[in-house]
Amino acid sequence: MMQNAKTESELSKNLAKVRSKIRQAAEKANRNVDEIKLVAVSKTHSVETLQTAISVGAGILGENKVQEAEEKIEQIGREKAEWHLIGHLQSNKARKAVELFDVIQTLDSVKLAKRLERICQEENRESLSVLVQVDLANEKTKSGVLRKDLPEIIEFLQTCKRLKFDGLMIIPPFFEDAEKVRPYFSELKKLRDELLEQNVFANETGELSMGMSGDFEIAIEEGATIVRVGTAIFGARKRG
Ligand SMILES: *Cc1c(COP(=O)(O)O)cnc(C)c1O
Repeated sequence: MMQNAKTESELSKNLAKVRSKIRQAAEKANRNVDEIKLVAVSKTHSVETLQTAISVGAGILGENKVQEAEEKIEQIGREKAEWHLIGHLQSNKARKAVELFDVIQTLDSVKLAKRLERICQEENRESLSVLVQVDLANEKTKSGVLRKDLPEIIEFLQTCKRLKFDGLMIIPPFFEDAEKVRPYFSELKKLRDELLEQNVFANETGELSMGMSGDFEIAIEEGATIVRVGTAIFGARKRG
């Protein structure tokens, strides 16, 4: 399943290219590039490739499966990078996720939030950063909180002592034409801005995690503070 190891020069070249595009998109949108974090999405890639990526400056890594992440993080070291969970979290993997990840980007139910809060208490984890994954397209097959259900989870997060509600995340529907995804990004930003006025975030700005290899520049133009880029850094993934 794992891909062949990527070389240091390949990864550093790709990272530089992505960072330069991030800078250009930020400039185009009159934004400060320092407010945009790059999550290098390393799912399906080998421990060796991840270690090389870290050595050439990938500071934040994104994984979508708890078990795959566990194997990698055990070998690489928890403290060697910041680890983000970007895939759906099943409740039976919640304890493991609390142990492994710095940020859970895919919080999608009150039930899961309750469980994570309780596990943090039990495991003496002082704080856990979470983003709420929002489903703006009403895609029933995908995870994510529907707009109408947002108030309930946000209200619950206000009562949490350990979970830090740091922002919103979206995986929009796929379009061949990346421009078609722009309305989802701008709508998520609008939602974030409304929530900012309600003072519900644990930080001052409210993160917006949106944009992948095919559309991260558009996402940045629309206000992304976190982009999740896999293919443009690591190359194409083999299908599982
Ligand atoms: C795989 C994945 C990405 C990265 O996708 P690329 O197109 O390879 O950049 C970003 N976000 C999520 C949630 C993913 O699962």
